[in-house]
Amino acid sequence: MAPLASTVAPPAPAAALKLAARAGRIAVSATAAMAIEAERLRAAGRDLVDFGVGEPDFPTPAHIQAAGVAALEAHFTKYTHTAGIAELKQAIVASHARDFGSSYLPAEALVTVGGKHALFNAISMLVDHGDEVIVPSPYWVSFCEQIRYAGGAPVIVPCDEAKRFALDFDALARAVTSRTKAVVLNSPCNPSGAVFSRDLFQAVLGLARQRGFWLISDECYSRFVYDGEPYSVGSEPASKERLVIAGSLSKTYAMTGWRIGFALAPEPLIRAMLNLQSHVTSNAASFAQKAAVAALTGTQQPVADMLAEYRRRREIMVAGLAAVPGVACWLPAGAFYAYPNVRRLLGRPGGPRSPMEFSTQLLHDAGVVTVPGEAFGTSEHVRFSYATSPSIIHAGLERFAAFCRTLLK
Ligand code: PLP
Repeated sequence: MAPLASTVAPPAPAAALKLAARAGRIAVSATAAMAIEAERLRAAGRDLVDFGVGEPDFPTPAHIQAAGVAALEAHFTKYTHTAGIAELKQAIVASHARDFGSSYLPAEALVTVGGKHALFNAISMLVDHGDEVIVPSPYWVSFCEQIRYAGGAPVIVPCDEAKRFALDFDALARAVTSRTKAVVLNSPCNPSGAVFSRDLFQAVLGLARQRGFWLISDECYSRFVYDGEPYSVGSEPASKERLVIAGSLSKTYAMTGWRIGFALAPEPLIRAMLNLQSHVTSNAASFAQKAAVAALTGTQQPVADMLAEYRRRREIMVAGLAAVPGVACWLPAGAFYAYPNVRRLLGRPGGPRSPMEFSTQLLHDAGVVTVPGEAFGTSEHVRFSYATSPSIIHAGLERFAAFCRTLLK
């Protein structure tokens, strides 16, 4: 009898992995690429200052955590309705009405697994092959990937940096064609921190109704506005017909890991999104939904406290960045990111030629984690998150200033 080893077939040569075409339509984000490299350096014992992460450093407020724990202790751990529990849908529409003056019904709300999921559901159900979706730049990384995944084509309209990254309505209107299916607006904007005006939203909504496209409004940072009152286009009279709001509890309540977001939209679209969701994720985590009810219906003081702290950090971060020779930085009007222009530091002999090279060199030479502007569709910027402590901000700014001095030598 032949030895056993010889009867075992040799391993088949690795079959070439043939993924579906849609896999090729989405790219790994530069945000993720930078995070992976930072993780590698950290694992090797490198001391890093992290301005890369886009999440609050605050713990989830105690009363929200307690509601989640109470739900677990009460064995609220089974499936819920795919659209979310009734009391959460009610809390979503009531808190949106309280904060922004909108008037949605629970049937026009869908609880999703984070705001990203609300966007994915909406884009998947609206965008067909050949459709165009207008996205102002700089933009949040996932918009274009989700649009391409659905088979659509993002049409980029650059914001005006000289006007604090305001979006020019005429520029947007010029980009509308017969194939335009939607416009995605994210205000306050990640990464620029720009807050688009009410006039702009009203004008875009008017155009959407007139030309028959959708306005997808990403309100992930809507409560983090430094000047004036928070605003939602959902508060405009008769706004609903062509509007999808993607909301999130992640940043507002420091709940990134709980994965709760929501969509507000006309009922037929909500039903289509629900149908998709029922075949993909089903409901958002049951106990996290109970925590979300506590977040939306309980005291809003933690949100005010976090906003006050972000305001303080914003001053430190932006003053520090703007003081560095070669760096220009606007004071962002919302969210928790600074988006300085580093053009004057690029292209020097031996130095970085692009934001990607700049961020990579900054990480390796100075141990500062940032996200290069390529991730957000611009070619002269680097994103700094100030959702981190003032002492870390000071330490990182010192390293950053020293790094930039070496580039100017
Ligand atoms: N929209 C924007 C602009 C974001 O920056 C993020 C997260 O970084 C999201 C949506 C998604 O947030 P989540 O899925 O955690 O609710």
